[in-house]
Amino acid sequence: MYLKKVEINGFKSFADKIEIEFEKGVTGIVGPNGSGKSNISDAIRWVLGEQSAKTLRGSKMEDVIFAGTTNRKPLGMAEVSLTLDNSEKKLPIDYTEVTITRRVYRSGESEYYINKSLCRLKDIKEIFMDTGVGIDGYSIIGQGRIDDILSNKSEDRRLLFEEAAGIVKYKTRKEEAEKK
Ligand code: ATP
Ligand code: MG
Repeated sequence: MYLKKVEINGFKSFADKIEIEFEKGVTGIVGPNGSGKSNISDAIRWVLGEQSAKTLRGSKMEDVIFAGTTNRKPLGMAEVSLTLDNSEKKLPIDYTEVTITRRVYRSGESEYYINKSLCRLKDIKEIFMDTGVGIDGYSIIGQGRIDDILSNKSEDRRLLFEEAAGIVKYKTRKEEAEKK
């Protein structure tokens, strides 16, 4: 499984729709300060369900929508899609490609889609559980995450091992069953 494509439309500095295609292996993103490199990783986190505006370097969720410039009006909606290769069926979905999409309007409501079908955030979280992808996985290592990995607290380190071992799904189901 690998990330094949990111499409960004109206998210932060990307007022026009852009498509970034990735190959297998290492990709570097370079550009001058303020050109939008970090906005790309924010977009990836955001689709995976990031709910914290602060983690996305804003103060409220609306801040992810293109805010306008001196010669361009603000937009009313932001949309980001990630397309992942699933030919090895690492994701529990019967398609060789999986596209997940999140859309947000100024009213604050988010919509999520898996292969263009409307779904819940819970469904997105579930398909990525135990794969290492997802905001709690280890595929996005932001500043601060390194501290968890090197943490003295065994609970912090344990979470990463549980994700790698593939048991987060069962733990979550058990917790949900216990709540009922
Ligand atoms: P650096 O090299 O300094 O880390 P960078 O390439 O990572 O820079 P980003 O932080 O991704 O840059 O981009 C910052 C730019 O995005 C700023 O110019 C900021 O004004 C713009 N930006 C952020 N949110 C929005 C928004 N909602 N609407 C329009 N522009 C935005
Ligand atoms: Mg940056």
